Amino acid sequence: MTMETSTAAKKAEKIVAVKGMNDILPPSVPRTERLPDSALWQWFESVVRTVLARYGYQYLLTPIVEPTALFVRGLGEVTDIVEKEMYSFVDSMNDDRLTLRPEATAGIVRAMIEHNALYNGPLRLWTVGPMFRHERPQKGRYRQFHQLDVEALGFAGPDVDAEMILVARALWRELGLVEGRDVRLELNSLGQPEERKAHREALVRYLEQHATVLDAEAQRRLHSNPLRILDSKVPAMQPVIEGAPRLIDFLGEASRAHFDAVRAMLDAVGLEYRVNPRLVRGMDYYNLTVFEWVTDQLGSQGTVCGGGRYDGLIAQLGGKPAPAVGFGLGIERLLLLLQELKVAVPDHAPDAYAVVPAGVPLPQVAATLEALRAAGVRVVQHAGGPDGPGSMKSQFKKADGSGARYALVFGPDELAQGQVTVKSLRDGTGAQALRPLADAASWAASLR
Ligand code: ATP
Ligand code: MG
Repeated sequence: MTMETSTAAKKAEKIVAVKGMNDILPPSVPRTERLPDSALWQWFESVVRTVLARYGYQYLLTPIVEPTALFVRGLGEVTDIVEKEMYSFVDSMNDDRLTLRPEATAGIVRAMIEHNALYNGPLRLWTVGPMFRHERPQKGRYRQFHQLDVEALGFAGPDVDAEMILVARALWRELGLVEGRDVRLELNSLGQPEERKAHREALVRYLEQHATVLDAEAQRRLHSNPLRILDSKVPAMQPVIEGAPRLIDFLGEASRAHFDAVRAMLDAVGLEYRVNPRLVRGMDYYNLTVFEWVTDQLGSQGTVCGGGRYDGLIAQLGGKPAPAVGFGLGIERLLLLLQELKVAVPDHAPDAYAVVPAGVPLPQVAATLEALRAAGVRVVQHAGGPDGPGSMKSQFKKADGSGARYALVFGPDELAQGQVTVKSLRDGTGAQALRPLADAASWAASLR
């Protein structure tokens, strides 16, 4: 094969997305996988912005790539994420060890330490963006996925723990999800490190007595991360897990009081939850309150949102010790849930579609459409192909398909009189009216 033909063959080869990494497509593009479209996505983001502003949270962005050490030190060496899910690589330019972020908290904490951000007091923060984990792709589980991440740094009291949970609840309400039916809250307290240590010792003693029932992974974790064994879904191990010593019974007075205070606030606002003593979460950095919002609608990918308190992390990453609490919400899972429940998404169709027959003076059309857009009207222009704009019939078909409520018909006769026809497409009347081209702003509001 000559050089030329091999390049030509390469050009024709189709390049597809990396496995487990998805395109978020507009509603008009047919999708092979049943993933949420970008209209749902944008609506979710607008609701998030509104709700977080109500609670006084500020937006920030941190890099997608961070030093690998940040996650190893932040999340803990024997966590699922660090052990087997990270996209880590060596930067070929300078040999730096880098990782595509698997979660957002460590990066936010790193940034706040780096910028001495807590010097002037505590902070409420949020961000949205892609996260990367090398997992087996399936419905609700991807290798690139997106999270909404909400963090409150520098607050020690149980009031902020409750606030976190209520922020999520406010999101459910605004998105049309019914709390208690579509999403349920599970709550636990992990206590403080010393309490965990006492529990852990009791747990290891107990599990050692039942070692024959444990599978290979549990055996391996028995001494490195026994708490995670309680999270196992292996059926044969369930009776042993059920009977294991419960961390909640090892909590001291202060931890108990903190937990009770969180619960009292949730009770006061009528939020129902289940205390789940086996809820442990995947990262090592949590203490005291931990919670998950779960759904029955997404099979085994049922956790939509998870978080808790992580008072030790800031110091662990080299900052001046300060308490913190936060949550991560899986956007794909949440949008799949909205889709599953057929939650109504606000209309994203244009207000008007401009039908532009062949041969009409386009500058006049452009001037009118620009005046309408400047007045806030969403108007799509039928733009021509190489052979012109296409027949009136095909243009009207497009206008219908766009979902617009009105067609603006720039017919040559109307244009000659300085006018455009506004035709109603959606109310069944097909009513028409002539409007002046010169003063589009005066009738723009009638289209919205
Ligand atoms: P899981 O137990 O399902 O693996 P996790 O405990 O690893 O979840 P977190 O690290 O708490 O998840 O992340 C917060 C949220 O991000 C999860 O509750 C979930 O909604 C979402 N999430 C986590 N991993 C993925 C993934 N691979 N694909 C899509 N969403 C994910
Ligand atoms: Mg996971």
